[in-house]
Amino acid sequence: MTTNEKVLIKVENLQKSFEDNKVLDGISTEIRQGEVVAVIGPSGSGKSTFLRSLNRLEIPTGGKIYFEGVDITAPETDIDHVRQKIGMVFQQFNLFPHKTVKENIMLAPVTLKLMTPEEAEKKAMELLTRVGLPDKADAYPGSLSGGQKQRIAIARALAMNPDVMLFDEPTSALDPEMVGEVLEIMKELAESGMTMVVVTHEMGFAREVATRVVFINEGNIQEENTPQEFFANPQHPRLREFLSKVL
Ligand code: ADP
Ligand code: MG
Repeated sequence: MTTNEKVLIKVENLQKSFEDNKVLDGISTEIRQGEVVAVIGPSGSGKSTFLRSLNRLEIPTGGKIYFEGVDITAPETDIDHVRQKIGMVFQQFNLFPHKTVKENIMLAPVTLKLMTPEEAEKKAMELLTRVGLPDKADAYPGSLSGGQKQRIAIARALAMNPDVMLFDEPTSALDPEMVGEVLEIMKELAESGMTMVVVTHEMGFAREVATRVVFINEGNIQEENTPQEFFANPQHPRLREFLSKVL
């Protein structure tokens, strides 16, 4: 697991409480360039809170998070600037319903003046081809299936040329027959070298695509390992119990 790749995200003793509910209880880990980290664990264990903390959608109550060396927990850090480098894909797509697919993808780079409309359109069409939906450029999200919406959401996140992609249960809201097409796009993205952190219940994806699997339970990383070791040799009794239920 130790590689020479550069550390993109460093998490030090991350804590988060909502009032007296301690949700994250001292998480420390590093995400290196090119890693595909699958985060698994029971419902309510803090997986989303952890992921959302990585781009400060949640503000930690303790600890530090560094993104490319910048302390994003520091109040003076320009988080909007950092977020340009962090793509995020949610369970519920969050596409703008009154904009076409192409406009959804072009919106952020054009609004932030990172690309001209012409550049953004070219990029959008490239990405639509990459996710297999070039013919949907002028469609509205409402006319798409869940699987298509999620592929568009991935394309939209990629339009910003992020350094890392965060996924929070990207297939959990999909009908079963649409899960595969989204996982396939994510697998291709992983193979292209993208750094990814993926909260998922898809154990096949964790086993086959992840470079590291992390088990979060009760707000802490209880175990992490290569997929092979993680699934063949789980150590923590709680992980064994969890795996016995989901495999
Ligand atoms: P997971 O993604 O592993 O299911 P979450 O990170 O969503 O878990 O939630 C962990 C705990 O934090 C839960 O008890 C949840 O109720 C609580 N929680 C999450 N977000 C909030 C919030 N905005 N306000 C209060 N409690 C929250
Ligand atoms: Mg969650």
